[in-house]
Amino acid sequence: MAKIVVISGAGISAESGLKTFRDDDGLWRNHSFYDLASPQAWEKQPELVLEFYNERRQLALAAQPNPAHLALAELESHHDVVIVTQNVDDLHERAGSSQVIHLHGELAKVRSTSDSTLIYSANGNPTQIGDLCELGSQLRPHIVWFGERVMDFDIAIQEVSRADKVMVVGTSLAVYPAASLLDFAKQADEKILVTKDIDGEPPESFQWLKGKAAHWVPKIASRWLL
Ligand code: NAD
Repeated sequence: MAKIVVISGAGISAESGLKTFRDDDGLWRNHSFYDLASPQAWEKQPELVLEFYNERRQLALAAQPNPAHLALAELESHHDVVIVTQNVDDLHERAGSSQVIHLHGELAKVRSTSDSTLIYSANGNPTQIGDLCELGSQLRPHIVWFGERVMDFDIAIQEVSRADKVMVVGTSLAVYPAASLLDFAKQADEKILVTKDIDGEPPESFQWLKGKAAHWVPKIASRWLL
C-alpha cells in the first residue's frame, strides 16, 4: 500500500460541467469574481454575495463526478489516498473519496459569522439574510475569500511531505499558497501533473501529462492499482 496525495483544482471538475476560474468570463451579473469573494463584499452587499454562492451551490449540486474523480476514489481499494483540493464542490466525496482536505472551503456548508468553528451543512438549500447559527449570528458561506486564511494548510503540507506518489490535477498553479504545496513533495518517487495548461514552465521533477483530467487520471490510476 502506497501513500498517494492528489492535489486537485478547478480543472478536474471542468468535465463535470463546472467552469474553472479561468474559463469563466470572470463576470457574474456585471460583478467580477474578486468583487464577490471577499470580506469587503460581504460587508457591503451580503445579499449579493449570498445569491452568488447560492447559485454556485446549486450548480455544484447538479453536477456529477466524472471519470477522474471516480478513478481517484477507486485507488482507495489498494492505497492510502488523501485528496488536497482547492475546489469548493463536493465531487471527490460524491465519487467515494473518504479523505478530502478542502483548502478553500466547501459550497455545501455554511458557518457562523461570530464563531468560525460553528459549521453546518446547508442541506442543499440557499442561505438567506436572517439564517442564524445557534448563537444568533448570521450564517455565511464556508468559503475562503480573498485575503482570508487557507484551511488546514499545515495538515496538507504534512500529507504531501509523506507521500510516495503525488498527482497534481487541473490546477493552473497560479493560486498561492496552494501551489507551493508541490515544493513539499520531496519523498515521492513519482510526481505527475495533469492539466490542460499552466503558467510558464512545468514544476521541476514533475512529469507533465498535458490534456484532460478525465482522459489521463483513470490511466494513471489503473497503473497505480497494478
Ligand atoms: P484555475 O481556474 O486557475 O485553473 C484551472 C486549470 O485547470 C488550468 O490550468 C486549466 O488548463 C486546467 N483545466 C481546465 N480544464 C481541464 C480539464 N478538463 N482537465 C485538466 N485540466 C483542466 O483553477 P485553480 O488552479 O483550481 O485555482 C482557482 C481557484 O478557483 C481555486 O481557489 C478554486 O477554489 C476556485 N474554483 C473552484 C471551482 C470548483 O470547486 N469546481 C470552480 C472554479 C473555481
